[in-house]
Amino acid sequence: MTTNANAYSTFQHRFANAGDFIRSPQLETLLTYAQLDAATASWARHFADQGARPGDRIIVQVEKSPENLIAYFACLRAGFVYLPLNTAYLDSEISYFVEDAEPSLVICDPDYVSRFSSASCPVLTLDATGSGTAVPNSDHDFEVAERGADDTAIILYTSGTTGRPKGAMITHGNLVSNGLTLFEAWQWQQDDVLVHALPIFHIHGLLVATHLAVLGGSPMIFLSRFAPGDVLDALPNATVYMGVPTNYVRLLADPRLNQETCRNMRLFTSGSAPLLAQTFTEFSERTGHEIVERYGMTETGMNTSNPLDGNRKPGTVGPPLPGIETKIVGDPGVLMVRGDNVFKGYWRKPDKTREDFDSEGFFRTGDVATVDDDGYISIVGRDKDMIITGGLNVYPKEIESAIDKLDGVVESAVIGLPHPDFGEAVTAVVVADSKLISEQQIVSALKAQMANFKIAKRVLFVDELPRNTMGKVQKAALREQYQELYQ
Ligand code: AMP
Repeated sequence: MTTNANAYSTFQHRFANAGDFIRSPQLETLLTYAQLDAATASWARHFADQGARPGDRIIVQVEKSPENLIAYFACLRAGFVYLPLNTAYLDSEISYFVEDAEPSLVICDPDYVSRFSSASCPVLTLDATGSGTAVPNSDHDFEVAERGADDTAIILYTSGTTGRPKGAMITHGNLVSNGLTLFEAWQWQQDDVLVHALPIFHIHGLLVATHLAVLGGSPMIFLSRFAPGDVLDALPNATVYMGVPTNYVRLLADPRLNQETCRNMRLFTSGSAPLLAQTFTEFSERTGHEIVERYGMTETGMNTSNPLDGNRKPGTVGPPLPGIETKIVGDPGVLMVRGDNVFKGYWRKPDKTREDFDSEGFFRTGDVATVDDDGYISIVGRDKDMIITGGLNVYPKEIESAIDKLDGVVESAVIGLPHPDFGEAVTAVVVADSKLISEQQIVSALKAQMANFKIAKRVLFVDELPRNTMGKVQKAALREQYQELYQ
């Protein structure tokens, strides 16, 4: 007998006999695992009745709700390819996704229906309270569809700093492999309770966070969005929290964050953007917990993590996870990864897919990294982020780290701006208390530490850095805003 490689089959096996899946912030049971399993069958039947077949794409653009997760798991169960979209995408962007993905079904918030006018398939609705035409009227059985490990389960469009978004095809095999790897590495316990405050249209909230709960048959306290007060209310009843670095900065700004609120916590993890060493240290001093920083991306799932047992080094993303190979071409150089976690390619972009894999099957992450003697990896920048000034390469992260350590500085982003002599000029955009530190003092401090070509030609003070929902600094927006600075 062959076993079904459908990820839902693995999940179903793991959560059989488990109790609560989703709890409200007030700790009421919103959905049990038994209800999830029954609902995914009825929802899968309902979607199939609209004409969806295994391998077909289903675009979902809805607010976060337990029913949104039912829709996701129903797609896995039926072998439909789940394609979630950030609710921030507007009409022109949506038309591109519809044209590129050719969905067989769209599920969207009732307010967004007009955005999908170009879709030539049924459009069902699901609102923030979990009601709409996507919800089936009656109960049905639905057998878990047979899928191979290499069949696409999800397409996630990557934001990409250049060109149009690309759809990363993530397979059933990728989901199971990366989920189980993290489950072991983070020593997940069935009685773990996760505070879930991440969006679920992105790999971090949808795959990393939700899959670990499902693999453990464990409950999650489900918050519709991140708000420091709500997370702090939930922490005493939880054991695990997963966040992006800005979440941690905002939790630290609340005096209620202390050892008492974290008394039952076992694990805090951070990823999707770099966690400042200063945030790691402040969090550990305040709560007694060292945040486990991990590194991954849409195309690869999670690649590295600081260890549960052993030294967690701030400023690093830890060694590669078991079963995942990495290589760094140069020092620093572009990080490449290979393993069952790595996606199978970009949807309908075979040339782009070929370009991004080397002859040994390693995927080029585009992240520039270094590795220390203990095998811990540090992400020092993006290859696109790299500044070339007077023909010399500068990695912004090195300069940002030096600036961030100065008294009075909250954070910084270093970018290259067009310059008549240098090609690009290193420029620092800094959030700081201007009473404590000046442009001149920052430049002098840098001069004492690094080669002259890396020194910022100008330091610009701003109130805050532009960020996307995952906490990533939007350097493209900064480059555009200041493009005339040296002209
Ligand atoms: P996404 O595909 O949206 O998850 O973005 C993936 C990118 O986020 C990676 O290629 C990195 O550039 C960045 N990233 C994720 N985790 C980390 C981390 N712990 N430290 C630094 N950068 C990270």
